[in-house]
Formats: sequence, C-alpha cells, structure tokens
Amino acid sequence: MNRYDVCVIGSGLAGVSTALSLNKNLRVALVTKKALEDSNSYLAQGGINILKDPSDRETFIEDTLKAGHYKNTKASVEKMVDQSPEAIQFLIDLGVEFSKKNGQFDYGREGGHSIARGLHIDDEVGKNILDVLYKRLEERENIDIFEHEEALDLLVHKNKCYGVQTDRRIFYSTNVVLATGGLGGLFDRSTNFSHIRGDGLAMALRHQVAIKDISYIQFHPTSLYEEEADRQFLISESVRGEGALLLNHEDRRFIDELKPRDIVAQAIFKEMEREDVAYEYLSMEKIGKEKIPRRFPMIFQELMDRGVDPRASYVKIIPCQHYTMGGIACDQYGRTSMEGLFAVGEAGNVGIHGSNRLACNSLLECVVFGRLLGAYLNSHLLKAKDFPGLRLDFAPNPEDDRREIFERIEEDEKIKAGAN
Ligand SMILES: Cc1cc2nc3c(=O)[nH]c(=O)nc-3n(C[C@H](O)[C@H](O)[C@H](O)COP(=O)(O)OP(=O)(O)OC[C@H]3O[C@@H](n4cnc5c(N)ncnc54)[C@H](O)[C@@H]3O)c2cc1C
Repeated sequence: MNRYDVCVIGSGLAGVSTALSLNKNLRVALVTKKALEDSNSYLAQGGINILKDPSDRETFIEDTLKAGHYKNTKASVEKMVDQSPEAIQFLIDLGVEFSKKNGQFDYGREGGHSIARGLHIDDEVGKNILDVLYKRLEERENIDIFEHEEALDLLVHKNKCYGVQTDRRIFYSTNVVLATGGLGGLFDRSTNFSHIRGDGLAMALRHQVAIKDISYIQFHPTSLYEEEADRQFLISESVRGEGALLLNHEDRRFIDELKPRDIVAQAIFKEMEREDVAYEYLSMEKIGKEKIPRRFPMIFQELMDRGVDPRASYVKIIPCQHYTMGGIACDQYGRTSMEGLFAVGEAGNVGIHGSNRLACNSLLECVVFGRLLGAYLNSHLLKAKDFPGLRLDFAPNPEDDRREIFERIEEDEKIKAGAN
C-alpha cells in the first residue's frame, strides 16, 4: 500500500518549495504529470521579487495592490513581502545563484513596479532556480518522485481527503497538496504548457471545495505572433523594462510600456482593432545591439531560431493568456475548505494578485507560501490509522472538466459584473 505522510501533486516551484520545506523524517510523494521540468515555473524568464530594503516595504505592497486593482487580500500581500528576504535566502542556501553586477545583485524592473526589485538569472530565472532545486530534491531520501504520472482525482470521505488516484496507482495520504498550476492549457493561445490545464481545480470542483475569483485571468501583453504554435513564446516584460517600445503599424507608440500588464494588453488589443491588424510590434532597438544577446540570451536565441533578428527588425507581438490569479480558495498555510487538502502556487488563491498579477510576484508566492505550508505540515500533520476503502469508480473526462471550468468562469464574471 502506497502510504505517504504528504503527497504533493506538481513539480513547479510551488510543489518543490513545499516538498523541500518538509522535515526529513516525513515520507513524501511528489507526483508530476510529465518530466520534472515540464512546469510553467521552469519557463519563467524575468525574475523573482524581493524586498531589497525595508524602506521599499510600503511601495512594494502598494505596487502589488494597485496592479491587482485592490482586489487582493492585503494581509497575504504583506506576508509575502515581509517573508521575501527569507524566501530568497532559502533559495540561495539551496545553491541558487542570482545574477550580479559589480558584485551586487542586479535588479530588473518590470511593468507596474515603482523601482527595480526583481532578481534574475540571465533571462531564465525559472530554469536556473529549478535545476538547482531538482538536484536537492533527488538528494532527499524521504522524497519519492513519480514522473509521467497523472493525478486523476482525490479520494474523499465525508469532506476529508484520504489520498489521490493517478493513472497508475493510489497514493494514500491524509495530507494532499495540490500544486498543479493554472488553467493556461485550456486556452487556444497561451504561454503555458498545454498539459497544465486546471486539473487540480477540476478535482476541487468535483468535491465542492471552495474556489475564489476564478474569472481573474491574466493576458500577457507580449507573446511572439506566430500563425501556428503549440505554446506562445513569451517576450518577458523585463525587455520593456530595459527600454523596448511598443509600436503600431504607423511606427507610433500608443501606450506607456511599463504600465501594469492588463492595461498594456488591453491597449494592444484596442490598437489591433483600430488598425484592423493581427499583431503589433515590439522594437528592441533602444536596448542596444550588443546588449540584447548579452542581457536576454535565451529570448535572443529563440527569436533568431524563428528567423527574427531583434537587433535588425521589429518583433511581431500579440497578447495571450498567461496566468490564473483565481483558484482554489486557501489561507496562508494552504488550507482549503476540505480537511487534509492543501493548495499552493498558481493552483491556489491566497489573494496575492487580486484581479491582475504584478510581474515577478508569482515565483515569490510559490516560495513564500510553499515554505509556510511545509512548516505548517511539519507541526500539524494529519494522521490516519485507517483509510476507508476508497477508489475511483469513474474516469474523469478532460472535456467535461473543461466545460465545467469555463461555466464557472462565466458565472464568476456575471457575479462580478453585477457587483460593479
Ligand atoms: C513563459 C512564462 C514566463 C513566466 N515568467 C515569470 C517570471 O519571470 N516571474 C514570475 O514570478 N512568474 C513568471 N511566470 C509565472 C510562473 O512561472 C508560474 O506560473 C508560477 O511559478 C506557477 O508555479 P506553480 O508551481 O504553481 O505551477 P507550475 O509551475 O505551472 O507547475 C504545475 C505542475 O503541476 C503538474 N500537474 C498539473 N496537473 C497535474 C496532474 N493532473 N497530475 C500530476 N501533475 C500535474 C505539472 O506537470 C507541473 O509540474 C511565467 C510563466 C510563464 C508561462
């Protein structure tokens, strides 16, 4: 019988931060649908925020609330900002090395930020953090990793979670963590991996677990325009932070490039409609021909591989789905409305982002709240002597899940429209 103290579903930064924060005497299963690195966290380019100086506290909180249109839960935002230096230190202690300039951290600035406070590692912050964390994970003898295994549903009895059934086996555990990411895979155009498509949310809905603000979905202003692509290639906001401009087909700017994402994305959609075109342009000229490959090596290479030289020509861009702010309602310890079921990262909603996420706050959310959840489970682990003989008697249908989620999104939109 596969019995585990804690069963974590998902190998993005939220799931991995949680697993690495658990005591080494706990038996932990980490289950993930594809390979370890097939997560949206791994794709993160721009950076991870930190409160670099106590004098920035109020501004950092205000930038986050303002970007989220004050729909955020302020106590959660304060917690994240206050815990950010410890969260970054946790990563550094595990071996992560952030980019430096003249021996000091090199902070990047993105849309909606009053000052530069994003730590980066070249332009592949997610990959470079997670490659280190995966090594630490593999060194932990108490953590068993199950790759290419899909969680299908929760095992539930009287609103208490007793484990998870996957496409291969049953994991019995009275502490199940949903770190399954957002909904991007359900959209036609998204920067997300297509296999990350709200599976955790669908499980929660099937068992009447409370969800919150599910219609709050973020569109990123600048994904590369391609006629056909499985996943939209993202051009990080930090490119605009370094001076890149948005231009229309008449070579004119139409928006302040460093406004929050929702405002910039809406302005691009509006301009596309006004000009009756399928895309607008990003000009990287102001960054400088030499600096582009040095500061953005991955983005530069990906564009070149697609036949676009950003040193010599404009880049065609279009906004697309990027992030899910809403999700499974949870508190700062990841607790949901079901006993023994926890949510963290993009799958959960602890109220950090309100109706629009400030750039570089999601990786930070994963680490801060993953650590808090780990610490909570270390001292409040739920134990069960007996597991009711539960197993699934049906196979979840992804099409039904998709329909259900979009219906919930529509319902939430209507409620919010009525409230305004
Ligand atoms: C292109 C891109 C760039 C980004 N850049 C930044 C940035 O610069 N800064 C920033 O802060 N944020 C950025 N983000 C957002 C951020 O990377 C992530 O969205 C966020 O870290 C969410 O992490 P997570 O661990 O909650 O989920 P994810 O990283 O999405 O991980 C979800 C995990 O759950 C697994 N899973 C899903 N369903 C199942 C199932 N049924 N069974 C088993 N496993 C399952 C997946 O395989 C995956 O391992 C970016 C996102 C994208 C897509």
